[in-house]
Amino acid sequence: MGELEKEIQYIKGVGPNRAKLLQKLGIHTLKDLITYYPRDYEDRNKPSEIAYLQDGQEALIEAIPVSKVSEIRTKNKRVVLYKLMVRDSTGTCILTWYNQSYLKNRFKVGEIYKFFGKVKRVGGHIEMMSPVYDLEKTNKNTGKIIPIYPSTYQLSQNTIRQIMENGLNLVKSKLQETMPEFIKQRYQLINYEEAITRIHFPNDFNEFKQARRRLVFEELLSMQLALLTLKNQYMTEEEGISFSKEVKMSDVINQLPFHLTKAQEKVLEEIDRDMEDRKTMNRLLQGDVGSGKTAVSIIASYKAVKSGYQVAIMAPTAILATQHLESFKQLLDPFHIRCELLVSSITKKKKEEILERLENGEIDIIIGTHALLEENVRFKKLGFIVTDEQHRFGVKQRGTIVAKGENPDVLVMTATPIPRTLALILYGDLDISIIDELPPNRKKIDTYAVRKEMEARVNQFIKKQIDEGRQAYIVCPLVEENEEMNLKSVTELAEKYKKEVFKEYRVEYLHGKMKNKEKDEIMMKFKEGEIDILIATTVIEVGVNVPNASIMVVENAERFGLAQLHQLRGRVGRGEYQSFCILKYEGKSETIQKRMKVMTDTNDGFIISEKDLELRGTGEFFGTKQHGMPEFKIANLFEDMPILKEVQKLASQLIDEDPKLEKKENKLLKEMVKEKFHDRLEI
Ligand code: ADP
Ligand code: MG
Repeated sequence: MGELEKEIQYIKGVGPNRAKLLQKLGIHTLKDLITYYPRDYEDRNKPSEIAYLQDGQEALIEAIPVSKVSEIRTKNKRVVLYKLMVRDSTGTCILTWYNQSYLKNRFKVGEIYKFFGKVKRVGGHIEMMSPVYDLEKTNKNTGKIIPIYPSTYQLSQNTIRQIMENGLNLVKSKLQETMPEFIKQRYQLINYEEAITRIHFPNDFNEFKQARRRLVFEELLSMQLALLTLKNQYMTEEEGISFSKEVKMSDVINQLPFHLTKAQEKVLEEIDRDMEDRKTMNRLLQGDVGSGKTAVSIIASYKAVKSGYQVAIMAPTAILATQHLESFKQLLDPFHIRCELLVSSITKKKKEEILERLENGEIDIIIGTHALLEENVRFKKLGFIVTDEQHRFGVKQRGTIVAKGENPDVLVMTATPIPRTLALILYGDLDISIIDELPPNRKKIDTYAVRKEMEARVNQFIKKQIDEGRQAYIVCPLVEENEEMNLKSVTELAEKYKKEVFKEYRVEYLHGKMKNKEKDEIMMKFKEGEIDILIATTVIEVGVNVPNASIMVVENAERFGLAQLHQLRGRVGRGEYQSFCILKYEGKSETIQKRMKVMTDTNDGFIISEKDLELRGTGEFFGTKQHGMPEFKIANLFEDMPILKEVQKLASQLIDEDPKLEKKENKLLKEMVKEKFHDRLEI
């Protein structure tokens, strides 16, 4: 094991500087390195004959330098060209590099080298720009199938490749097998070491396929085992609460200022049944932003309170908790149900008072943030818990609050629309209720996809809306691989908006590096209408309600996933005003066009998430932190659905026979799950 924990800096070819760059890619140890999988491969296997090279083609040639490298100074003093003429039996080719003086004495006339690069045909000449090369007998850069890494952050692909090779050499014949023999045999999976080596440097396509299958299988299996283990953790032998059949949800439903949608009615029936049942409820309530989940949770809470129990509502941020409190009070005050707020910003005195009343049973519903998890928060009779989650695996925290009651029923709410087939698998540990319908009379948010060139018009439009009294969000992407640089460019953009474009308006800027308190303050000011334009990276709180905001502008919309764009769009259209979403995008690729079209065509989160999966693949879909899904390093749930199904079957078999994975033959499996999910699971 020890070797794999070796710090990246001590690997051959990596000094302190490169180590820093690698760390930006999330590579800290040898293990991180060898599990940094290629995004793509380039087949540099077959040499082409020079005479037949096509313009624009990437090709490998085997050729002999005709003369030495010549150095050509251009008018632009900063660029020096290095040219080398080479030949094979069919013709000659001119190779060109920029500013690479060390190439001057690199090649010997008469020896054979391999060159790989992009071909340019100008007039009668054949050229290759900045080719990579190898001696004929070596294969570092040109032979075989060459891995292309997802991102290299100022390191060249060649450098990373070399470091990878050094890393793999260190673990050669030392990598421990991670999968039990009987599973490998049953599913014909290759060894771990073989898979790791071949995923980086496959000799042919078939080797790549086998390596990938093995790694995907393992990744999905550990996830499924984790899910089932979780499910077992909830399912206690003890009996849960059966809430009173005498308390009718309809009492509060009849007092609502609106009619429930069919979908809300359906999920409330499911919840009601679970609540009256003796078994403990563990149910996921999934529904688009604004589909009326909170309303559902209020009605269910009514039932719990009137059956004699206390309720805890846990929200991810103080603003959301405050917002929930308002909604709860509005509907439940008439029933003399006592709701209180517990967030970290309240005064000590107030807090003490709340804690005391909570313990004495003088508060029926407590709404709060993580503050609710603290040890000194005690209930008299906690029977029902609602967690408003952005994170799929916030499981430990859920456990902490559950422990404050006696087998309370739990409702987990999420606004992440996931296609049903996938939800059934990923949330395999919970029962699922879906609200797949929005309340009627919602105004459609008008969505426009515009190119950068339209910027001036967009800005004009924003000003007009603000002059009419509305507010606007402007969201910028923050690309993780390059966070610092990006933050800088986002800050610059914010400054430009503040000081130039919108200088006559009140503009504020919000980003992830700010303290929570600072963020909350700005958000509050925006909510109170003291800010006209809020510029933000994606930290805008999911679910925040500012009915007066009617414009959502997304910069570089092509960099966001569709599901994410949809979530962002959900920030507007929450009031009486016609709202607009403006997606500014760059790039002309077909995929980008298609994705923008999906957004302008539909407002349905489920359709959007299916398209997102289709157009991007799950790697990126779930890679976004917003989903809080486990991050897959290699699996793609869309493409790998067949493997996922196999794995799902296997996992339930394994857990049926050995719920805690204690048998000797399952030891490796237990370690696999533990390693990946130790921070979320008690196993
Ligand atoms: P979610 O929690 O899913 O984002 P909410 O429950 O907060 O959605 O509902 C959003 C808004 O719609 C709230 O103002 C709520 O009062 C209102 N609402 C909820 N259900 C309905 C309905 N069936 N008809 C009309 N308005 C509704
Ligand atoms: Mg129950």
